[in-house]
Amino acid sequence: MSTLVIGAGIIGMAIAHELQRRGEPVVLVDRDGPGMGASFGNMASIAVTEFLPSSRPAVWRQIPGWMLDPEGPVRVRPGYMPRLFPWFLRFVAASRPRRLAAIEAAGAALCQRALPDWLALLRETGLEDQISDEGCLSLYADAAEFRADRDHIALLDRFGLAYEVLDGPALRALEPSLSDRIGMGVLFPQNRSVRDPYRLVLALAERFMALGGRVEAGTIAGITRGARFEGVRLADDRHLTADRLVIAAGAWSGRLSAMLGEPIPMETERGYHTQIDGDAGVTLRHSLIWPARAFMVTPTAGGIRIGGTVEMAGLTAAPDYRRARVTVKRAKEALPGLVAEPRSEWMGHRPALPDTIPILSASARTPGVFYATGHGHLGLTEAATTARLMGQLITGARPDLDLTPYRVDRF
Ligand SMILES: Cc1cc2nc3c(=O)[nH]c(=O)nc-3n(C[C@H](O)[C@H](O)[C@H](O)COP(=O)(O)OP(=O)(O)OC[C@H]3O[C@@H](n4cnc5c(N)ncnc54)[C@H](O)[C@@H]3O)c2cc1C
Repeated sequence: MSTLVIGAGIIGMAIAHELQRRGEPVVLVDRDGPGMGASFGNMASIAVTEFLPSSRPAVWRQIPGWMLDPEGPVRVRPGYMPRLFPWFLRFVAASRPRRLAAIEAAGAALCQRALPDWLALLRETGLEDQISDEGCLSLYADAAEFRADRDHIALLDRFGLAYEVLDGPALRALEPSLSDRIGMGVLFPQNRSVRDPYRLVLALAERFMALGGRVEAGTIAGITRGARFEGVRLADDRHLTADRLVIAAGAWSGRLSAMLGEPIPMETERGYHTQIDGDAGVTLRHSLIWPARAFMVTPTAGGIRIGGTVEMAGLTAAPDYRRARVTVKRAKEALPGLVAEPRSEWMGHRPALPDTIPILSASARTPGVFYATGHGHLGLTEAATTARLMGQLITGARPDLDLTPYRVDRF
């Protein structure tokens, strides 16, 4: 049976590849070409330890303070607040203790499989050189800051994810560029980074096409269905038909699901990066994350990438690159030798659902339609696992994991 996948980001691309591996004909459609959405400029981290739900009370209690701080880790543009309100109510609802426990388990189930699934996908595609061998270091100024992150460490204990606590000297033995201000760290050995997230999507696309897959440039303007899915209409009035449809259009997936009368509470958590190519004044082997300062630094193929932050302002507002500059300022506190010029800046749209776990699901309304979207901060991390599970679901095989927690009609 033929499948049309909307969205050639890392999620759609990995699913297309998996269906192709299973012998299914696949057409990918994207308005911008492979890897130009959030998958272009993310922080490159296979971050298997980072499934702590954003909706935990410890986070939302800090939100009012962040609102008053223009350099805080989360910013809501004032004009966007009314639009955000219904999503925010669902976000608060996702902070009830029983719901939180279920969200954590659902996040852990994907993250525990993420690295082996990625290694298998890269092996199969001959792209093993796209991933680093080093883990990620979480930074803490002192023991008090480390204690403040205890929820995170307790979560890793609960789900059996490896970590190693390091004192300042042990940390600097691993990364000599780190400032003396960093008194403690934790090594996450299973978190890896890819050399260049955009090139990874491109490499997967090239292989997909070399094996007979088709990538169509076009914007989906309509979806036609009778008793089941029939086809799509592109903005240039072309029509494409297929037996099945997979909606993997990242932060834009809500617009497409609305065409099917199946609303999903999708928001965009806009994030920024600064890329410093060439000599950045520091050399890094590990990626770095400083939870109290809410930024990340990753060594990438071309240089060093600094990023993070969340800005709620919708899909169409212009970027505010002051957000990117705040993360560079913070990164210099950890890496005093960092030289952040010349640099390029980028903004991307994380596809964010209020309960921080993705939708991996058949449509509840239209037979033949499937969703793989809403991966938020973890789309790169969870892409290979998503592809494996969606490949099973779409072809009628029994998924390795119970997909009930990821259903589209859970909201
Ligand atoms: C600053 C930042 C840092 C991040 N860091 C990490 C990280 O370190 N690790 C991690 O795991 N995740 C990270 N993420 C999250 C990750 O990038 C996303 O979760 C992931 O890229 C989502 O992939 P996707 O394929 O669902 O969406 P996208 O990559 O956004 O792809 C969606 C595609 O759909 C296409 N599309 C949309 N609408 C239509 C339409 N109507 N017709 C045709 N095509 C359409 C778009 O053109 C786009 O190419 C980060 C995100 C940001 C912004």
